[in-house]
Amino acid sequence: MNILVINAGSSSLKYQLIRMEDETILCKGVCERIGIDGKYSYKTADGYKVEKSADLFTHKDAFDVILHEMVGGEGRVIHSVGEIAAVGHRVTHGGDKFSHSVLIDEATIEAINAMRSISPLHNPPQAATIRACRSVFGEKLPMVAVFDTAFHATMPPKAYTFAIPYKYYEQYGVRRYGFHGTSHRYVSGRIGELMGGQPHRLITCHLGNGSSLAAIRDGRVVDTSMGFTPLDGLMMGTRCGSIDPSIVSYIANLENLHESEMSHLLNGESGLLGVSGVSSDFRDVLEAAENGNKRAQLAADMLEYQIVKLIGSYAAALGGVDAILFTGGIGENAVDLREQVIRDLAYLGVTPDSEANRSRGEEVRISGPDSKVQVWVVPTNEEIMIARDTASFVQ
Ligand code: AMP
Repeated sequence: MNILVINAGSSSLKYQLIRMEDETILCKGVCERIGIDGKYSYKTADGYKVEKSADLFTHKDAFDVILHEMVGGEGRVIHSVGEIAAVGHRVTHGGDKFSHSVLIDEATIEAINAMRSISPLHNPPQAATIRACRSVFGEKLPMVAVFDTAFHATMPPKAYTFAIPYKYYEQYGVRRYGFHGTSHRYVSGRIGELMGGQPHRLITCHLGNGSSLAAIRDGRVVDTSMGFTPLDGLMMGTRCGSIDPSIVSYIANLENLHESEMSHLLNGESGLLGVSGVSSDFRDVLEAAENGNKRAQLAADMLEYQIVKLIGSYAAALGGVDAILFTGGIGENAVDLREQVIRDLAYLGVTPDSEANRSRGEEVRISGPDSKVQVWVVPTNEEIMIARDTASFVQ
């Protein structure tokens, strides 16, 4: 059975076609600059590869191109649409409504689109993408929505309620939802397999361009650092993370900024980029710090400090911690940052295995044999999680 996995943004569309029997990626790629000038890549398991410019005016054009490559192109991997059993769509916000993946019907698309007020940048283009997909692949092909928020639906009210007038939760759904749920779910499941049983108290650290931590008890999320939107929690590539909310009106007043300008400042000009003035990319920041750039060093130190602080607070929330894991581009690769975090957690009885910690992008235990808490690196794989969820609906 083949499952097509779609991860759509407002101007991009990543895709993978996965054969579920052995979880082989038959082909994958990305359509970019949709609605601008358009280009796409297509790569197969056999090594066939294209990267081309194309007229991608809409997401429908992107699906046409993908379908053509998969079925009719030189590097085709299937003979017809009939060989695709279902499509799994990554959807950013499921709000209060979706705590699990769902089979998509018209009402689901409407509901995803209706969440535009709490997820204006992601949900409307994703709803439109689902419609475009249906128009290209046909009404009959089952489609499943997998929500970034769903895994966090087990949080208790004391963790998800903000201390603002309660009516804003009741009227507008203002609460902590959490994101990266599919990643946290994948790695927390995987560590259960690696450790030979689900750790009782687990902290998962997804550190990438966007970052979030989750506190997980017996496989269920009890708290997570992203909030109402993916802006909250840790500082990120360009996002500020948690700051004193008064700063927003203070700067907006001083600089006469409109709400959308303020939002751009906090989402697009802050975080590693804002503090270092160098880049949103952690590798660039580390390189600049090594070359003596003090603000780059400050940004790197802040990120490490915030991770340590948040792990401490989640250890408190869980009443202790049995395992901590790192994932995401930074979590999987930033060796020195991981080493420093482990050293700063010595008070929890954590010790490093510095040799093991040198590896990048591999499943590996990086805590010492005498460590009271196991620390692991587990590369994330959101696509396989989406594919498995989708397959479960058609099996
Ligand atoms: P992601 O959003 O998960 O793809 O992660 C992207 C982030 O991972 C960027 O900030 C990269 O700089 C960072 N990253 C990737 N490789 C490394 C590395 N070897 N060392 C430090 N950071 C890295």
